[in-house]
Amino acid sequence: MSTFALRQLPSSAALMLASAVAIFCTFLVWGLSMRSEFDLASFLNWSDVSWQIAEVDSRGRLVRLGAHPFALALLFGFVATGCMGFAWGAWQFFAGPSRTQREADEGLSDRLEKVGKELDDEMTSVMRLLKQHLDLSGSHSQSLTQAGESLLGSTSPDRIRAIIQFLISENKKVQTEVNDLNARLQQSQQQIDKLRVNLSDSHRLGMLDAVTSLKNRHWLDVHLPKEAEHAATANESLCIIMADVDHFKRINDTFGHAVGDEILRRFAELLSKNIKGRDTAARYGGEEFIVVLPQTRLSGAKNLGEQIRSELECKKWMHHRTGQPIGKVTASFGIAELRRGEECDDLLDRADAKLYEAKAAGRNRVVVDE
Ligand code: GH3
Ligand code: MG
Ligand code: MG
Repeated sequence: MSTFALRQLPSSAALMLASAVAIFCTFLVWGLSMRSEFDLASFLNWSDVSWQIAEVDSRGRLVRLGAHPFALALLFGFVATGCMGFAWGAWQFFAGPSRTQREADEGLSDRLEKVGKELDDEMTSVMRLLKQHLDLSGSHSQSLTQAGESLLGSTSPDRIRAIIQFLISENKKVQTEVNDLNARLQQSQQQIDKLRVNLSDSHRLGMLDAVTSLKNRHWLDVHLPKEAEHAATANESLCIIMADVDHFKRINDTFGHAVGDEILRRFAELLSKNIKGRDTAARYGGEEFIVVLPQTRLSGAKNLGEQIRSELECKKWMHHRTGQPIGKVTASFGIAELRRGEECDDLLDRADAKLYEAKAAGRNRVVVDE
């Protein structure tokens, strides 16, 4: 039996639970204090009969509804805080996954923007350094020309000595400036190297799916056309498998998004385990995945699809923490092979149409575009 661990109770669910318990406890304490002589207000030495809220029942008995307004305020305060906590937790719980993804995307684009700006700044400062150096070289060569001209017209040894001293000091200045420029250029080179690594990290992260760590839709948009072009020029076959988890919404609705996410991760692992070499598994979106199979004929792709389908079908899932049975999880598959001169979008459309057929025929099956 295959089990999986939900790493921890999501903090949003814990907040909802704590809020519900807090509301329940507030009412419990309140109910007890109503039934007994215990009075929150008198407990706090605020008792004042004129503030008591009371009612007379049909038999003329005094029924105490509430005590001091301070105690009532406490009741409403606790309950309102509990309700707000519960609502906040619920919002986090249901909107969490999409928000996390959005935050990751925003974080990544911020990082790309920052690295881009830093690279820009560094290039500007290198250009400025070079310009400064060129200006100084120009002024040095002017002084040298002038010194050379004066040297030609001079006969006095003192004058010649003075000109030579001037030339030596000019040469020293040039040397110092060249050394300085060298050091600053080296610093810039190191900084640019660092930024380049940072940029390629960000680029790599932008191609990965945050939930499953598989390649994402963006990767597919960039690389599937490249694979198709390569297959066309090398006259090789290229197949894609489009897979979609069956009744995934029902799994989410019954067991929660955290379980749904874990199932996506497990399905991604199953795909990765079954591919090799240049094959790539990517998350196309939601609970849809695409496996790109270069140098693979339709029969090979069909066998692979069938293998993944049956391996998934054989697993029985249960909630690691609660032991609650989740049952079987199945997926449907549509497979197509790239035709000569075909665009990637058309290839994807054909695989999608076959996936749709697999769903319509009852799900948990592989349909090939033959
Ligand atoms: P079918 O068998 O026809 O494919 O039905 P389905 O329920 O799998 O398909 P449907 O398109 O109706 O529902 C897909 C659900 O997948 C709805 C959406 O909330 C959920 N989903 C999409 N992305 C994620 C995700 O990253 N995590 C989780 N847990 N659920 C997701
Ligand atoms: Mg589905
Ligand atoms: Mg779907």
